[in-house]
Amino acid sequence: MITIKEYKKVSSLEEAYELNQKKTNRIIGGMLWTKMSSTNINTAIDISGLGLDKIEENDNEFVIGAMTTLRDIETHKGFDLYTDGAAKEALHHIVGVQFRNLATVGGSVFGRYGFSDVITLLLSLDTYVQLYKGGIIPLAQFINMPYDRDILVNIIVKKEKIRCAYKSVRITKTDFPVLACSATLTKNGVRMVFGARPGKAVLLTDTENIIDGEITEEKAEQFAAFAKENIKTGSNMRGSAEYRSHLVSVLAKRILMDMGGLEK
Ligand SMILES: Cc1cc2nc3c(=O)[nH]c(=O)nc-3n(C[C@H](O)[C@H](O)[C@H](O)COP(=O)(O)OP(=O)(O)OC[C@H]3O[C@@H](n4cnc5c(N)ncnc54)[C@H](O)[C@@H]3O)c2cc1C
Repeated sequence: MITIKEYKKVSSLEEAYELNQKKTNRIIGGMLWTKMSSTNINTAIDISGLGLDKIEENDNEFVIGAMTTLRDIETHKGFDLYTDGAAKEALHHIVGVQFRNLATVGGSVFGRYGFSDVITLLLSLDTYVQLYKGGIIPLAQFINMPYDRDILVNIIVKKEKIRCAYKSVRITKTDFPVLACSATLTKNGVRMVFGARPGKAVLLTDTENIIDGEITEEKAEQFAAFAKENIKTGSNMRGSAEYRSHLVSVLAKRILMDMGGLEK
């Protein structure tokens, strides 16, 4: 059980940042992960009044506020179209609609959880995080940074011409994934991300140029073997490293066959 001594709804990012410098204070997103722990929080910092619950789309990018719920991302028409439905596929397995109406993208990304479908999806796109003090940095860099007391303000997804697909394997519906895989195909080739290995999501690029042009079954099989060889997996209560490595090749092939080629 968590115990919260004081609650403060802030009126600026600076106020939130100042309060968050104290180790016993905590930014609150949807509070769904936080409430699972047994901690004493001195001041719960509520940033829900700062207008960070919106997705803004222009010709070049999507800017997703940290307080945007997973459900809002899942049901956003522009993002759904841009990701060929991959965003919906990544998010709709997470617990249930009521849960996703509360869970925020800020809490999901700041947490940097190994099991995260959210990070697996975003890492396969050209994604950046905007931190209040740390500025705009690539998500790939952020997920490997040590935890600090900064505030995640926005997630920025730069638009490019892509095909995109997402698949995960779960032992039971709504459980954490045993393995998650997200891929984008751009004019520069394939970017494939494996999450829930069970470690943090990792990005695999096609350094051997296996996929150039149209994706055939043979090329997909070659890439699947390349992925299996290069993606490090581990064991936990949901599956062994060996099982996960098998899934790496199965999901890699299926995802490539689903994407087909760059032309939509
Ligand atoms: C039972 C359960 C099952 C789940 N299953 C899955 C799953 O299958 N797949 C999946 O991807 N995820 C899953 N999740 C994770 C979930 O989707 C959210 O990622 C998680 O709950 C965090 O989001 P939140 O808004 O609740 O964050 P919170 O719990 O409010 O915050 C999480 C952490 O991030 C910090 N934080 C929040 N917002 C900010 C910000 N803007 N700036 C700086 N720090 C911030 C908080 O201080 C806290 O340390 C599951 C969670 C639970 C509880």
